[in-house]
Amino acid sequence: MTIKNNLRAGIGSLFLLALISSAIATYYIYQLSENSKAILRNNETSIVYTKNINKVLDLPGLPNSDGLKTIEYNIKREEGDITETGEKALADSLYADFRRFRTSLSNPALAAALRTKMQKSSYGIMEVNMNAMENKNRNANKTANTAISIFIFITSLGSFIVFLFLIIFPGYITKPIIQLTKGVKEIANKNYDNRLSFTDKNEFWDLAEAFNQMAARLFVYENNNQAKITHEKLRVETIVRNVTDAIIGFDENGIVTFVNPVAVKLLGIDEKDIIGSSAQQAAADNDLFFKLINEFEHFDDLKLYLDGKESYFIRELFEIYAPEDVHLWGKNEDESKRIGYFIFLKNITRFHKLDEAKTNFIATISHELKTPISSLKMSLKLMEDKRYGTITNFQKELINNINEDSDRLLKITSELLDMGQVETGKLLLNFGNTHPQNIIKYACETIRFIAEQKEITLNLKCPKNLPDVWADPDKTAWVLINFLTNAIKYSSKKSVIDITVKKHSSAKIEFSVKDHGKGIEEIYLPRVFERYFKVPGSDFAVSGTGLGLAIAKDFIEAQGGEIGVESKIGEGSRFYFTLPVSLI
Ligand code: ADP
Repeated sequence: MTIKNNLRAGIGSLFLLALISSAIATYYIYQLSENSKAILRNNETSIVYTKNINKVLDLPGLPNSDGLKTIEYNIKREEGDITETGEKALADSLYADFRRFRTSLSNPALAAALRTKMQKSSYGIMEVNMNAMENKNRNANKTANTAISIFIFITSLGSFIVFLFLIIFPGYITKPIIQLTKGVKEIANKNYDNRLSFTDKNEFWDLAEAFNQMAARLFVYENNNQAKITHEKLRVETIVRNVTDAIIGFDENGIVTFVNPVAVKLLGIDEKDIIGSSAQQAAADNDLFFKLINEFEHFDDLKLYLDGKESYFIRELFEIYAPEDVHLWGKNEDESKRIGYFIFLKNITRFHKLDEAKTNFIATISHELKTPISSLKMSLKLMEDKRYGTITNFQKELINNINEDSDRLLKITSELLDMGQVETGKLLLNFGNTHPQNIIKYACETIRFIAEQKEITLNLKCPKNLPDVWADPDKTAWVLINFLTNAIKYSSKKSVIDITVKKHSSAKIEFSVKDHGKGIEEIYLPRVFERYFKVPGSDFAVSGTGLGLAIAKDFIEAQGGEIGVESKIGEGSRFYFTLPVSLI
């Protein structure tokens, strides 16, 4: 039976019982009241009449006319109130005797006999009614007892139903709910085998059916998903295992969860030993691992040996964040949760080889170009010599142009050569103690001519009392010359260039060149030291290869110094570098 019908039956039967009991109560109360009314009406009045008759007959002497009237009146009333068997005969006899008694008052003996007979009849009527009253009273008692029994029965039945309701019904409702809750918890724990079965075919039975269907579908869905995920995982793992790059995976707590074969080879460790250990632990036992997880800022190409061959790698870090709509991790929903990260060592050996080939090619070409350019310059010098004939003004102008272009070409080739030296690691530095003034003087002498051409004033500040620097004077002068030529290039005519040398710290001296030219946009500042970079929109006629500052950076850093730039568009630029103070 359904719960709805159960509730209907329970409450309905209680309602029916209440209805029946009130009907029975009304019926019995009516019965009892009718009985008592009948007693009053049928018997009580007869007793009163006979009582009145006997009152007159019991008086001494013969009754007077009033007494006779009373007797007659009451006999007549009694005649009209015959209710019991035998009562009529007695009443008739009483009346017959009264009529004789009334006429025989002169005969005392007869009158006395009749009076006694009348008294007897009257008492007889009284007795018949009294007996009837007693019988009716007994019947009323019986009726009351029956009513009480019925009430007790109905109340017991009602109580029993209520009792059953109280004892059975809560269990009837809660048992399936508990079972259902258990089932749902099992589903939450991904146990889809659990099924619900209820014996009663009620609403819970339907619910169990629906639940079982859901569990079965979830089971199929989960299995399909699982298969898909396993397939995808295998696919990704195969890719990751076969790439020539090294991959190391970490969970959100920095525990190593994954290393691919290339990473295992590079790190020279056993996969089993590293999986499950923390990044710090692994770093303590392995220098390369330490480098990989600690040197995040400046990370040059890594030269490592893979399968006995020289290989080059760059390090990249990928962080993995939980998708925003997934809150499986039970954390604050607002947090975008990092669930792990990967360190990726990209194998760039192929590119490195190409780069090397390019550098060698450039070095060879620039080296080969230097000799013909020098002989070109030599020939130009000879052409200018008056001993070999006079030249026209037009020819002189042409020679000047060729001379300028040869200088430019020579500058470019020597920059390319320097670049090649830096890239191939063949940069040779001649360190020595040098006073900053020597470097400054040499650089200023070199660029004086081009500065004069633009009427630019060089404002030099280099105190004599500065300590020596430990540096290669030629390479440092080259950097300064590069700063100065750029400053002149990008300054307007008749402007001022400040050349300042000062103590940067107790161990470093700072050289700087400040112009008041066009300046560099902030977004390009971090890129000006990159190879071949030229600020977009640079004047093609004045800009060079875009290698000058890149070479300068390499020269300075190779000497243990730092290089930098500050600039504001429209206000000018300040290029600077530091060099270590000589300790000797
Ligand atoms: P380039 O040979 O082209 O001058 P550099 O490496 O010396 O190459 O400089 C790179 C770029 O930086 C230049 O092309 C130029 O756009 C910018 N630059 C360098 N110095 C200055 C300066 N003093 N003022 C404005 N721009 C500059």
